[in-house]
This record gives sequence, C-alpha cells and structure tokens, in this order.
Amino acid sequence: METHFAQLSEHLYVHHGHVNTGILRDGDRALLIDPGDPTFQTTLAELGITKAERMLFTHHHRDNILGVPIAENVRVGVPAKEVSWFAEVETFWNDPKYRWHLYNYHPHNLMRADAIRVTDTYTDGAQITWGSAVLTVLETPGHTDGSVTYLIDVDGKRFAFTGDLIYDEGKIWELYSLQKGQQTSDYHGFLGAKDELKESLEKVRQASPTALIPTHGVVMNDPDKAIDMLLERLAYCYDKYVSISALRHYFPQLFEEFDGHPRHMPIREGKPPPEFLRHFGTTWLIISETDEAFVMDCGSPNIIKQIQQLQVEGEVSEVTQFWVTHYHDDHVNAIPEFQETFPCETIADSVVAAVITNPIGFRLPCISPSVTRVDRITQDGDSWQWNEFTMTAYYFPGQTYYHGGLLVEGRGARMFFAGDSFTMAGIDDYCSGNRNLLGKDVGYEKCLHLIQELKPTHIFNCHVDPAFDFTDAEIAFMLDTLAEREKCYTELFPWDHANYGMDEHWVRCYPYEQEIALGETAQLRVEITNHSDEPRTVTAQPILPTSWGMEISTGETTILPRAAGGFGFSIPIPQHCETLGRVVIPVDITYNARPLGQFREAIFVLTGG
Ligand SMILES: [Zn+2]
Ligand SMILES: [Zn+2]
Repeated sequence: METHFAQLSEHLYVHHGHVNTGILRDGDRALLIDPGDPTFQTTLAELGITKAERMLFTHHHRDNILGVPIAENVRVGVPAKEVSWFAEVETFWNDPKYRWHLYNYHPHNLMRADAIRVTDTYTDGAQITWGSAVLTVLETPGHTDGSVTYLIDVDGKRFAFTGDLIYDEGKIWELYSLQKGQQTSDYHGFLGAKDELKESLEKVRQASPTALIPTHGVVMNDPDKAIDMLLERLAYCYDKYVSISALRHYFPQLFEEFDGHPRHMPIREGKPPPEFLRHFGTTWLIISETDEAFVMDCGSPNIIKQIQQLQVEGEVSEVTQFWVTHYHDDHVNAIPEFQETFPCETIADSVVAAVITNPIGFRLPCISPSVTRVDRITQDGDSWQWNEFTMTAYYFPGQTYYHGGLLVEGRGARMFFAGDSFTMAGIDDYCSGNRNLLGKDVGYEKCLHLIQELKPTHIFNCHVDPAFDFTDAEIAFMLDTLAEREKCYTELFPWDHANYGMDEHWVRCYPYEQEIALGETAQLRVEITNHSDEPRTVTAQPILPTSWGMEISTGETTILPRAAGGFGFSIPIPQHCETLGRVVIPVDITYNARPLGQFREAIFVLTGG
C-alpha cells in the first residue's frame, strides 16, 4: 500500500494507514498514538525519526494496536479501564462466558490475539509532557467502555485524537460496538451506547479542539459541525428503530419518552390462540385430532416435563415431529435431551440447521453449545402434511439471519410461527449481532413481503402467549420504515451500504472455532457478504503465531454484487507447540482496496498429535 501522511502543525503529524497514527515529534524521537498499521514506520523513516519512544492507545481494538513487535524500551500507555484487554487478553479468549450464551458484548472480541506489555495507564485528566507538547487524557467511552481521547496542546493549537467516537462529519465507523444495555443486557441494547457517545462527544467539544483526528476516518477541521451532524443522524436513526421495534412490547419502560409518538406504529392487541395449541416457555405445541403432538423449540428441560405431563393427562399420545425456529440458546439448550426423550423427526431450515448442527463453527449472539441432530433440512417453500395440517417451511431471516418460519394451515386457521421475529409492537431487531440485513429481498423486507403474501390469521412469537396479526397498512408502514432506514443508516457510515456498518458478520471465518491436532492441516474459510451494487475484490491473510515460524499467503477473490462468497486456506499446524489449547488466528482483510487490518479472527483449539 502506498503510504502517506499529513503535517498538522510544526511538531504533529498524522500517518494515514488502515488507521490514523498520530506522530508527535521531538527532534529524532516521537510519541505515537494508535500505531495500528505497520506502515507508520515508513513515515517515521521519511521524517528522520529514529526513536519511537512512547506509544499511546485510545482503546483496545486489535486494528489500532501494532502489527509489529514493540521494542523493550518503548513505553506503552493505555486507558486504565482497558488495561486487562491489552495485557491479559488470554483471560478473555479462554473464558467460556465470552464464547457461549452471548448476551453481553463488552469487551468486544476485536481484541489482540496475544497480550502486550503495558507500562502506563491513564485515567481522566492525566497529563503527559512530551517535548514542547502537553497531552491531556479525557475518558470518552462509547465506542468501547474505556475509550479515551488524547488532547494535544502543541504549537499554539489543540488537537483531539478521539479514537473511534466519530469517523467524519456525521459519520461513524460502525454501529455494532454501540450495542449496549443500560437497564437490560447488551443483547437488548441496540444503539444503547448512543447517550454515552453523545456525552463523550460533548466533552470533546467542551475542550475546544481545532481538529478531531479519529482512529478510523478523516481529520475533521470543524469539530462542532462534525459532532452536530453525527448526533442529529444518530437521533434520527434511533427514532426509525424505535418506531417499529418489537422491544416496546417487552420493555415499554425503555421507550416512555416515545409514548404516543404520532409517527410510531401503535402497539397491537393480541388475540387468543386456537384451542389445539399449547405454549410453554419458548415452545409452541400443536395437538392434532389424533392426539399426536408437533413441537417447536426446546430451551429447557422443564419443557420436556410439561410435555410428559400432557402425556400422563392423556392430552398427547406421542410427539411425532419437531421444528426448530432458530439457533438461540433459549430455543435449543435442551434439544439433545428432548431428542433422547421423544424419538421423533427433527426438521429445520437449511440456514438454521447449519448453526445448530455445528454451533462451534459460529460466534453469534445467544449461541448455545448444544448440538442438535437434524433429520430433515427444509428449503424455502417446502411443504408437507402432518395429520390434518399442511405445513410449509420458509427461510425467514427476521430476528436473526439464521431463522426459519412455519406456516401451519388447518382447522380453519392459517397460523404463522415466526419464531422470535415479531411482537405486537413490530419487528425484533434489537441486537445488531443477529444480522438484520437491510435491503431488497433480505432481512425483514423479505419476511414482511412473505407475511403480506401469506396473510396468516394468526402470527405467533415463541415468547408471547397471545396470537396477533398485522393489517396491510401496518405491514406497509414497516416496509416504508425499513426503506427509510436503509437510506439514513447508509448516510451514517463511510460505506456504500448500511449493512457494512450494522452487520458485524459481513466478513466472517468459518469455522469460527475448530479442534485440530498437532501436525494436521486445518481448513479455514473466509466468507464475505458483498452488500454493494458492484462486484468487490477482497483479499485475506490469516496471521499465524510468530512462534510457528511460517506465513500463509494471501488469498484473493471477487464477490458478486449483493451476494456472499469466499475462499479457503489450508493451514498446517506445527508438529510441536509450546502450549496446547486455544490459539487465536486473526485474519487481515483488504476490501475493495481498503485495508481493514486484522478485522476478524478464528480460533484453533490445539490437541495433542
Ligand atoms: Zn475501534
Ligand atoms: Zn431468539
């Protein structure tokens, strides 16, 4: 990559690599901020700087922390609140609570594969004198919990290195880091860090810097304008989120300020479900005239007991079919036990089956380590008869990308089992990690068009007792809101489509995690969803531990517009390794000529040969 840099004042430079690196110079020595792209070394050489004596980091994300080893005599300074996410990363990577049943996303997994030595930690107000400059640390959480801004007073001016709080005027690098619960788990906190982000941006504004220098993004010479535009856009985007959010049904107290909002969809009344249905936990049960049961999902052993009780009471003879709506743990945790108790056919959509039969291959919200056996995999539109009911299976990317829907027709009803995708308040997209894609024929647009076409008499959610439905006007309103979101979220990001900033998994490793014995060869795929209207070229390179003494050559492919694709790597595992267990393999990505650094990772669990 061609390297370049800009001079901000006599002593201050910024190197533009995949992230911006601040270079504060004092003769032939320098203090660096966010040296994340190793190409900064070329700029140092060009400026005649021979000693990078200090390195300061705004936050713990892997892409802004060194692709090169740090020499012994370099002082490394980090936010005090994030020190363990620099110096003790093994704790994060080895703790199952950061791997399974994910409802909390702080810290974020964009963390270094190996720890770095930290010499200094900074809290709010800390000052550092360097040459003729004075640096002041401001704690500015939002993008990450412990992010800081470094204010630099130098050459009669004040510059603010703001980390990833803001990308450009009115823009932000991505949105999934803002997934944070205030009164709930992070899982329910779409844009939950927006108030924290706002407070941090106001704090930066109060300091009256002449320019903002972000980690990702461009130098902003009009901080007021940049901040105002971002806050305005975020507020508008949030409003478009709340206006049709299913979460208003579950947590009305979170949205009191929007109560009775004239442009928000009013919340529906429910209606009683037909008498041949039963609802326990997240499980719906259909009882046929023959007393056979069709069961959907099994999140806890308690469900099994309740079905057995129905058998004791003579309401149910046997369970003959079982459908899995989606992969979330509260729907699949007890499936292995269910399958042992009730020997029946298990059916799931192909996209759902991919996750529940091999959960170790994925790192997704609420993921369960329970492995489900699937006997029949359905494709979109497959139909079959079950007793007096006609069942039709759909790929239904509503609450999550990995989700199915089931239309059940019979006994005078057209019932649509939508998993967790709707409540009477609207659509369930409050966790960005679930991959709620915006656009034509994807995500909720696809789901709503299907509901429009099928016109079910009853829609069911696994967590809600009453049935409900939507009027044509309500469906049209939701579709209009989604179309508006596609526009307003696209404006928010430095990408040509909103999904890049919202869908964390547009680049992903498959399998995310795999067990592999020493001396064997691991297969790893990098999969990419191109959300643009043009073909995109992507290159990827897995970064192996330096102790393995080998490099994997870069792979490259072109992905068609609005399509997914990818390529594989064969990675030989050394015969001997100092330690067995989990090894994090970051993958360096360049997309459409834009370098993204070590953007994603995979995990190899090494076992004895
Ligand atoms: Zn970041
Ligand atoms: Zn769910």
